[in-house]
Amino acid sequence: MNNSQLSDLEFDQKHIWHPYTSAINPLPCYEVESAEGVHLKLKDGESLVDGMSSWWATVHGYNHPHLNLAAKQQLEKMSHVMFGGITHKPAIDLCRRLIDISPQGLERVFLADSGSVAVEVAMKMALQYWACQGAPEKHRFISPRNGYHGDTFAAMSVCDPVNGMHSLFNQVLASQIFAPAPQTRFDQTWNEDDIGPLEDLILAHKNEVAAVILEPIVQGAGGMRIYHPEYLHRCRQLCDEHNILLICDEIATGFGRTGKLFACEHANISPDIMCVGKALTGGYMTLAATLCTEDVALGVCASEPGVFMHGPTYMGNPLACAVANASLQLLEQNLWQEQVKQIEKQLKQQLLPLRDHVAVEDVRVLGAIGVVECKKAVNVAALQRVFVDNGVWIRPFGKLIYIMPPYIIESAELTQLTAAIAISLQTLN
Ligand SMILES: *Cc1c(COP(=O)(O)O)cnc(C)c1O
Repeated sequence: MNNSQLSDLEFDQKHIWHPYTSAINPLPCYEVESAEGVHLKLKDGESLVDGMSSWWATVHGYNHPHLNLAAKQQLEKMSHVMFGGITHKPAIDLCRRLIDISPQGLERVFLADSGSVAVEVAMKMALQYWACQGAPEKHRFISPRNGYHGDTFAAMSVCDPVNGMHSLFNQVLASQIFAPAPQTRFDQTWNEDDIGPLEDLILAHKNEVAAVILEPIVQGAGGMRIYHPEYLHRCRQLCDEHNILLICDEIATGFGRTGKLFACEHANISPDIMCVGKALTGGYMTLAATLCTEDVALGVCASEPGVFMHGPTYMGNPLACAVANASLQLLEQNLWQEQVKQIEKQLKQQLLPLRDHVAVEDVRVLGAIGVVECKKAVNVAALQRVFVDNGVWIRPFGKLIYIMPPYIIESAELTQLTAAIAISLQTLN
């Protein structure tokens, strides 16, 4: 059949890859025509309350006048210019802001084009750091199970080995060291046994380990698990004691989502290297950053080749930087703190009671994140239909139905999301 005879959705099904989707039996897609505030407007006219913030990114809502203006003004000046040998105000302002707001000690910024690339850069920095110190044998990473760090090969090697399908790629993936996932929940009393396995692994492997890499406090796509800040605090101490770098992947947790600007703040620690992405541009376009300490930056460049070996074509894209600056300006107004606190309170009121439902294994809430873990994997296509029919956009995966709405969501809209989750549970058995 000629492509032009296919409807748009038929063409999409036949020719376009979507995230984590089969080319043989793709899940249905909904065509979005525009988006405004917390609403996604579908082509057929329906308007859905967005529970996903387009995967953690759209913290201020869609079509935001301040972000739109920043993009338009920058567009009139230049969309892009190479970053090699050239610099520009949008990047300078953004890096100033990032250094200002991020945990103490992070002084150098590498602008990357996506979260996965920011993780690649972080891992490469750690490896090059030790190589330049004359310790090239420190070339492996320790990571807790249930982690997620992106889909490129180095990032994949530190994702949960089961979720991340390591067996499929074991011929090419670097072999890393996995610690059991932290067990003590965020609001439980800290259990000292929880750090033991990580400590044992660090002691056994410290001479070959470059860094521990983890998602602080909330493990996102690897299981939506929320753990005790003391685990992170102790991990920082162990890394210090045993000469190992700590990489915190704040790509999902950064910019207020957990109730702190960065999740590291729950444990009052600073990593040696930190990755941010997702909400950095308020959900407008792809941009990420890897920050590191002065010690790491100088160490990386201390000996041959004397430079950090990375430089994406679109590094420091001015358009993306300008929008990121505008998004950080909105966060600087500090409305997010009260907004996230209100969302957390309401999510606790409305989601925690679902723990008693027969289909539910567990419910967890932190900041503007609500997670309902079911006993069995859900039928994504069927549940998605239920959600759309109930006027909301929620995309479950595996056993997890979870929401992280834009911070600007109003109470009644949030109730629409939680009510739809309750309704969706009735369709499970
Ligand atoms: C989404 C995510 C990434 C990958 O970011 P991309 O922009 O999708 O490449 C890495 N780490 C964490 C914690 C994430 O949530």
